Amino acid sequence: MNKAIEEIAKVELHCHLDGSTSFELIRQLAEEQGVNLDESKLFVSSQCDGLDDYLQCFDEILKVLQTKDSLKRAVVDVAKQAYKDNVKYIEIRFAPLFHMDQGLTMTEVLEAVASGIDEARHTVGIGVNLLICAMRQHHAEQNQALFDFIHKHNHEAIRGIDFAGPEVGFPTETIEDTIKYGLDLGFNLTLHAGECGCIHNVIEGIKLGSKRIGHGVAINQDKAALQFVKENDVLLEMCPKSNIQTKAITGLKALNLPYLLEHGIPFLINTDNRTVTQTSLNEEYELLMKNELMTLEQIKHINKRAVRYAFLTEDEKMNLLLKM
Ligand SMILES: [Zn+2]
Repeated sequence: MNKAIEEIAKVELHCHLDGSTSFELIRQLAEEQGVNLDESKLFVSSQCDGLDDYLQCFDEILKVLQTKDSLKRAVVDVAKQAYKDNVKYIEIRFAPLFHMDQGLTMTEVLEAVASGIDEARHTVGIGVNLLICAMRQHHAEQNQALFDFIHKHNHEAIRGIDFAGPEVGFPTETIEDTIKYGLDLGFNLTLHAGECGCIHNVIEGIKLGSKRIGHGVAINQDKAALQFVKENDVLLEMCPKSNIQTKAITGLKALNLPYLLEHGIPFLINTDNRTVTQTSLNEEYELLMKNELMTLEQIKHINKRAVRYAFLTEDEKMNLLLKM
């Protein structure tokens, strides 16, 4: 691993709790809980033919993330991995509804994850906050009830909402009312969009008020759409290895990073799912450097710039910048 990359202070804004829980912890939890896991299903296969296929891995991982203890430990585990990447601040996202299969209430899920955040902040020593994922494929009432709940729960670590899940079949118009509902409650919004080739989903998301876009890669070759991103001061949360696996891009060059850098289009590199994708943040940057798509100076620059797009208060951003 390139030492110079390791030493760069980083921010990570797109990282899923379930998909990033380490293999070691998943295996340990399965043993403790007496769950028979098919370990070959925990990682994306080399034959992955797209996002729907990629999302299958989560079903296996979620089997062991149905208790308060496992959720708390998963948060600490992901924070520790980020710490190894020299991440100073991470926003970890998760979908509470996926952790209620064995009887946990929404309150218990949120309290367990929040206690993991507390422990991670005190013992791992990095800044950690949460994003709550609604799912594109869930009914509007279900997603609105989720937003109502977290609004009432009002935990300081919850800094924003997201919509994840399959884009094909659930374009941004179908979730428009629910997006507005969440924004009206005062939540910051980041949105998975443009992962399945649809430029329209990204543009609509930004028009609705999304401050960041998860992936967004469909627009990376479209100069007008990129200009729209810049004018609206929206950050693209890119996840290169994951994008290759889901076939969202044909290769790293398709990210068009030199163009984005040259034209000041805001973006950041993230892992998406450390375990499912088999990656770390250092590995993602190393891959980009090896392919001569970014320099060390540019990596430093985009990480510092990303502080501005973190869902933090102005004071918190100032404090974070001192560590960058
Ligand atoms: Zn994602």
